[in-house]
Amino acid sequence: MTLSRTVVSLTLAVISATPAPAQESAKPEVMILTTGGTIASRVGAPMTEGDSLVGAVPQLLDHAEIRVEEFSRIGSSQMTPAHWLGLAKRIGELFGEDSALTGVVVTHGTDTMEETAFFLNLTVRDRRPVVLVGSMRSANEISADGPANLLNAVRVGVSAAAIGKGVLVVLNEDVSAARDVWKTDNRRVDTFQSPELGYIGVADPDTVLFYREPLRPHTTASEFDVTGLDSLPTVELVYDYTGFDGSAIEEIVGRAPDGIVVATFAGGRMSAGARRGVEAALEAGIPLVIASRVPGGRIVGDPAADEPIVVARDLPPHKARILLMLALTRSREVAELQCIFDTY
Ligand code: ASP
Repeated sequence: MTLSRTVVSLTLAVISATPAPAQESAKPEVMILTTGGTIASRVGAPMTEGDSLVGAVPQLLDHAEIRVEEFSRIGSSQMTPAHWLGLAKRIGELFGEDSALTGVVVTHGTDTMEETAFFLNLTVRDRRPVVLVGSMRSANEISADGPANLLNAVRVGVSAAAIGKGVLVVLNEDVSAARDVWKTDNRRVDTFQSPELGYIGVADPDTVLFYREPLRPHTTASEFDVTGLDSLPTVELVYDYTGFDGSAIEEIVGRAPDGIVVATFAGGRMSAGARRGVEAALEAGIPLVIASRVPGGRIVGDPAADEPIVVARDLPPHKARILLMLALTRSREVAELQCIFDTY
């Protein structure tokens, strides 16, 4: 799959009639990578290309020198691990080639934003801010939230307080940490929440403020280096439910993925059918993780009862899948995989 990347290196520099006084300090430099999503959408019209999306918010120039690069122009439901890999590599290149670059903002659909954010949180090896931003309303809907969200994302991206906080998600004046954030509402502009830990900070009109910082390793403290990878391990995700006969897991086992995540009931408990499917996966030697489909709390103890099953503790199933994809680039041993899940 080739990623369409129209490199539009557009510096929206203010052409002032008179040269700025020599003592005025240069503005920080921000790269905005655009990928698509509702923030770039208009009801009844094609998705906006990157430089027009950014050019529609001239207030950005009050905060930074802006460069724009269109990485893709897709709804985030169409994102794939190949896109994640490409974004991580491109962001790494941008930081590597420009020591003056203050931060990177990625405009992205909200449907899978938390997944891309978590993947980048574990694979971008730089302390400088990477901020994902989207919107819940299209550009031509009443009270469109995209422009304000983009402005706040750039404000966070140039904030010294954002350095070393890992990958961030900014919408609705709220700043969320990549590991914690969920899209919790199909419609509301405050859809991104972190069920138990809350926002990591705010982008208020007067200042960008952080209240805490992530304790789990990320970015420069992550062991995952994807720069040499052309693809990622294949990990399938299956949800348990009342009356599940487990055949979907057995069918997946037949396709021999690199790993499987089973979204269980609370506490890691599962149906008899799911149990049969898990047994089939273990029999086939496929690394398997159980993650609770319940948003709050941890899977405690050892529900796998000393079987070679990895427990995702508080990580939700769709993020456990991402961590397992990366963990499998390091090991297939259950004990080592469990250590990775207990670490990140
Ligand atoms: N409605 C989604 C959004 O808010 C569409 C997408 O994720 O691309 O961006």
